[in-house]
Amino acid sequence: MTTTNGTTENGQTDRKPPGLPRPLPNLEIQHHQIFINNEWHQSVSGRKFPVYNPTTGNKICEVEEADKADVDKAVAAARAAFQRGSPWRQMDASGRGRLLHKLADLLERDRVVLATLESMDTGKPFLHSFLVDLEGCIRTLRYYAGWADKIQGRTVPVDDTFFCFTVHEPIGVCGAITPWNFPLLMVTWKMGPALCCGNTLVLKPAEQTPLTALYMGSLITEAGFPPGVVNIVPGYGPTAGAAISHHSDIDKVAFTGSTEVGKLIKEAASRSNLKRVTLELGGKNPCIVFADSDLELAVECVHQGVFFNQGQCCTAASRVFVEEQVYPEFVRRSVEHAKRRLVGDPFDPKTEQGPQIDQEQFDKIVELIQSGKEEGAKLECGGSPMAGRGLFIKPTVFSEVTDDMRIAKEEIFGPVQAILKFKSTEDVIKRANSTEYGLTAAVFTGSLDKALTVASALQSGTVWVNCYNALHVQAPFGGYKMSGNGRELGEYALTEYTEVKTVTIKLSQKKL
Ligand code: ADP
Repeated sequence: MTTTNGTTENGQTDRKPPGLPRPLPNLEIQHHQIFINNEWHQSVSGRKFPVYNPTTGNKICEVEEADKADVDKAVAAARAAFQRGSPWRQMDASGRGRLLHKLADLLERDRVVLATLESMDTGKPFLHSFLVDLEGCIRTLRYYAGWADKIQGRTVPVDDTFFCFTVHEPIGVCGAITPWNFPLLMVTWKMGPALCCGNTLVLKPAEQTPLTALYMGSLITEAGFPPGVVNIVPGYGPTAGAAISHHSDIDKVAFTGSTEVGKLIKEAASRSNLKRVTLELGGKNPCIVFADSDLELAVECVHQGVFFNQGQCCTAASRVFVEEQVYPEFVRRSVEHAKRRLVGDPFDPKTEQGPQIDQEQFDKIVELIQSGKEEGAKLECGGSPMAGRGLFIKPTVFSEVTDDMRIAKEEIFGPVQAILKFKSTEDVIKRANSTEYGLTAAVFTGSLDKALTVASALQSGTVWVNCYNALHVQAPFGGYKMSGNGRELGEYALTEYTEVKTVTIKLSQKKL
């Protein structure tokens, strides 16, 4: 057994630099049931589903499988917790903030456990789970804890025989359907604003990766949230997920995942009760590198931008446009970076890339790599799975990619870099925007003028200049076009979790 500061229990210092946390690979899974009303439940159907470790292919545990009947129970609990006069509704707004801070404290306390669970479940390197995912979760909860008692309406100037004001009220029961690539982080992106505004929640984590969300159930109880405020229903998309999106007693649903399923969610909302919908979907994000940029910075940022999280990011730098003068050098250095990338056991602190999440995603990536080869892109390195290593894929770089190739058009969600060439600014803006997606984009240049011109021309919810994946909890995140609807994070997210009520009072005309 090791402590979190890099020393073994018998006092020996290990090889790693001091201060690095150590995972707990033999962690026992304690929470694998459905969480409703602060209690653990078996599924109504009696069914369970297996959860696998993508690194080894071994089953981690079986989890109770929620379906419509379980979602109905969870919604009833969330509705009861939202009733007028309930402890949650009567709580002072700052009390909600205190509970969110307490939850963040518990995440900090159990950070190693949660990061270990996340890496077991997703295959992402443990240090990424610990330093990136968990850090993001804690910051998100604290940020929204701070907002809880600052959600204010306005007084509205109307004619002086009336007094008019607005109140920002919680919407009600919110559904959240989350993906497998950042399992706990995406939960907090929804839970933070939902709870700080006073809503209640029914959350369905992705079937591949439910373990950290379920662990969070135990922390919700420990933090002291009233029963029914948060309910967690692990299960499959077309069953438990669809039960949420079709539910007539859910007032809003927040979804992160594929564009294909995002369309189903909106359709279900319109067929049921027109619940509010926010969607954070796919991307085919252009990354534009001008010849006047700091090339090493651009190469490094774009490399991390595309390969981070095994390439399984909606923000992945999946279309890299490089100005022709520096194209050969950019390709050469990018290949060097990709060849150096350490692929291996997520619990080894040196590992930069773990396995893909499951066979389905793995097969899709391998098929897209094959299409790149067949359509005439130049394979610079990688281009195949790692022999005998299950779901691991070699970091892959293609140059001479053209706009019509599938690897330049489709979301790959894997460790595959596609590098295209451009000649003029006008040309690259057109090509960058020529996609149904509009999630993120990046520009690398030494010219402020060029950076601002391109940033304003790109149809994209986020534009990074001389940086990549620079996400901040204070800044809104979301997509243009088919990358989504609405915004998460920042103050903007609060509008997605509140209804605005206008109260207009007729003033008595009597002389006082
Ligand atoms: P991916 O294709 O990357 O697995 P999905 O969009 O399929 O992403 O999954 C994201 C989340 O959406 C998961 O929690 C999944 O269970 C859920 N989901 C999948 N299909 C549906 C559906 N028909 N209705 C509601 N949720 C769904």
